[in-house]
Amino acid sequence: MKALQYTTVGQHPEVVEIEKPSPGPGQVLLKVTAAGVCHSDEYVMSLSAQDYAAQGYPLPLTLGHEGAGVVAELGEGVEHLQVGDAVAVYGPWGCGRCHQCAQGKENYCVNAAAEGIKPPGLGAPGSMAEYMIVDDPRHLVPLGDLDPVENVSLTDAGLTPYHAIKTSLPKLGAGTYAVVIGTGGLGHVGIQILRALSGAQIIALDVTDEKLELAKHVGAHHTVISDEHAADAIREITGGLGVQAVFDFVGAGPTMATAVAVAAPDADVTIVGIGGGTVEVGFGTVAFDVAVRIPYWGSRSELIEVLDLARAGQVEVATQRYSLDDGPKAHEALAAGTVRGRAVIVP
Ligand code: NAD
Ligand code: ZN
Ligand code: ZN
Repeated sequence: MKALQYTTVGQHPEVVEIEKPSPGPGQVLLKVTAAGVCHSDEYVMSLSAQDYAAQGYPLPLTLGHEGAGVVAELGEGVEHLQVGDAVAVYGPWGCGRCHQCAQGKENYCVNAAAEGIKPPGLGAPGSMAEYMIVDDPRHLVPLGDLDPVENVSLTDAGLTPYHAIKTSLPKLGAGTYAVVIGTGGLGHVGIQILRALSGAQIIALDVTDEKLELAKHVGAHHTVISDEHAADAIREITGGLGVQAVFDFVGAGPTMATAVAVAAPDADVTIVGIGGGTVEVGFGTVAFDVAVRIPYWGSRSELIEVLDLARAGQVEVATQRYSLDDGPKAHEALAAGTVRGRAVIVP
């Protein structure tokens, strides 16, 4: 079968021919119907050989941590699934036994690192292939009649902002403001989730008017160019007070500086992007009672909820399709910043 693999540190990923896997006991083989391209893939491929190895990533690595497919084959002992079922893959695999996993929060599994359990595409073979192995039926959520290509990215670009935003909802009633920094794959879904679930006015930040067009299209009330004047512009929009929540889908030094600068007393500052930034937090550097959070992905139950939002027509991913053969081009487009919404590979 064909797979898009990262084979050499520092080189572009390539389409290779590898053996079709077969499911072991308790596993499920999916025929992949869609695989989303996330900026975290670029992050992984930007690591030095040393950092890449330190993260425990193998070479070659079949990419793709947003996956959807139809069940092609069931491993021994797998029940409650039928060949042909359409499913989405819950990606942050955990042990299934610890206290976090018992709550469905496998994204914060306490045993995964020690037991070498890694998400597909971020250690285990991922979804950018004709077939993929899912280690446990627990990691599959029924898609029903949701289109796999249009919705595959909800498994990360939907689930991650959903998890980030849900925690802050008690602070986002009517009359409040929320800032979304970076309106790409995650951010443009985050804006829609805020529209669907909160009463907040949404202020979206990105680097060009062209990028901000998508933000407006999906429901941002205000748009601001993300530069050194952004914090002042946000203060002006909010009558000087600042905002009740910031969701930073970039996470670079300058965006994090903006994030804390515009936080009103008691606000949540949530850093989702892994842009390498840090920010100083202490008396006098942020408003009183500001909470800074670094969330990762989301829980299994939250994935079910995000798919329900899509079924209700409340979120829609802007997608651009690529064939598996054109997979390297999808990654190039993402790296160049020319993707509108999410690039999705359709094997
Ligand atoms: P993306 O490339 O689709 O979108 C990023 C957006 O940020 C683009 O629109 C870009 O123009 C914009 N941007 C870049 N620099 C900016 C700046 N200085 N100010 C404002 N906007 C800026 O990326 P994505 O797939 O949406 O991922 C976003 C980030 O989230 C990445 O760092 C990714 O690795 C990370 N991520 C984190 C998690 C998590 O669990 N914490 C999960 C998925 C992705
Ligand atoms: Zn991702
Ligand atoms: Zn666990």
